Amino acid sequence: TTTPEGTDIRQLDEDTVARIAAGEVVERPASAVKELLENSLDADADSVDVTVEAGGTELIRVADDGYGMSEADLRTAVRQHTTSKIAGLEDLESGVATLGFRGEALHTIGSVSKLTIRSRPREADGAGTELVYEGGDVVSVEPTGCPAGTVVEVTDLFYNTPARRKFLKTTATEFAHVNRVVTRYALANPDVAVSLTHDGREVFATTGQGDLQAAVLSVYGREVASAMIPVEADGDELPVGPLESVSGLVSHPETNRSSREYLATYVNGRAVSADAVREGIMGAYGTQLGGDRYPFVVLFLDVPGEAVDVNVHPRKREVRFDDDDAVRRQVDAAVESALLEHGLLRSGAPRG
Ligand code: ADP
Ligand code: MG
Repeated sequence: TTTPEGTDIRQLDEDTVARIAAGEVVERPASAVKELLENSLDADADSVDVTVEAGGTELIRVADDGYGMSEADLRTAVRQHTTSKIAGLEDLESGVATLGFRGEALHTIGSVSKLTIRSRPREADGAGTELVYEGGDVVSVEPTGCPAGTVVEVTDLFYNTPARRKFLKTTATEFAHVNRVVTRYALANPDVAVSLTHDGREVFATTGQGDLQAAVLSVYGREVASAMIPVEADGDELPVGPLESVSGLVSHPETNRSSREYLATYVNGRAVSADAVREGIMGAYGTQLGGDRYPFVVLFLDVPGEAVDVNVHPRKREVRFDDDDAVRRQVDAAVESALLEHGLLRSGAPRG
């Protein structure tokens, strides 16, 4: 095709298209970790071990004991837009129970890295399969001895997209993002044993047998765990608004940090951040926290599907509510009544 100026309009080749799309989904090591961790949880794993080296830039390994994949499943899984989780738009409209459904994570991660997947279905005995995928192509598929479940290894992330590789921050910063992601999922899934290891050092490991309090203890340690109080509000206990319930744990005001990092908030089970939610939390603490100090919070909000759009962004980190003001008031009220009940708010203290 030729434009009036005589410029050629070209069809981009598949590799280029895949690498551009990958940039949307996989921005940094932490985004690959998130996708792999979600796949493990969707696979009904009881344990997920995340290992990274150099902040995830050299190696990301996610090993689970989930339902695994057969050789045929594996070959299909790395192709674009292949998913076992939804069949069509109808399923999206009726609400998705799984964390993934786009069927693009493995394909896109594999188009910007070297990907090795070893998997064996739970019910199959004998060998599993190892598939090696590099820059978007299947390099080899071979039988291999492995336990039931799946191990995905990503090495040399962005080796073929130098612009994106250059955009990566220091190892410490990239690891902080990875830590944040794994922490979010570990806290939301106390019934799954989640561990995180960085450069050979175990950062945390949850038991998979406890409740939220136990997960907080494993992830943040004793000092923080002992400063947490429960929040539990639903129905009439909440002001009018879209939220059906607000529950979780929040810290005593004096157990705080100078970073928002420790505000772990979830909407319908997904780890997301929303300004209205953060403002509601901060409003409840009022002036009890010094300027620029944030509490430890693990808070789960339940909203009917129609009041929130979680599909706004492929990375699904932010959600949009129809009525932000009402959400802010509801979160504020739920957290405030928990703090009051535990005598943790000075009465009459001005609220921020
Ligand atoms: P999505 O999660 O959106 O379906 P992905 O590209 O992340 O897309 O994964 C493609 C498919 O590969 C999944 O639908 C699932 O069937 C399979 N899969 C991926 N990871 C795992 C895993 N850890 N255990 C079992 N199956 C997996
Ligand atoms: Mg997925």
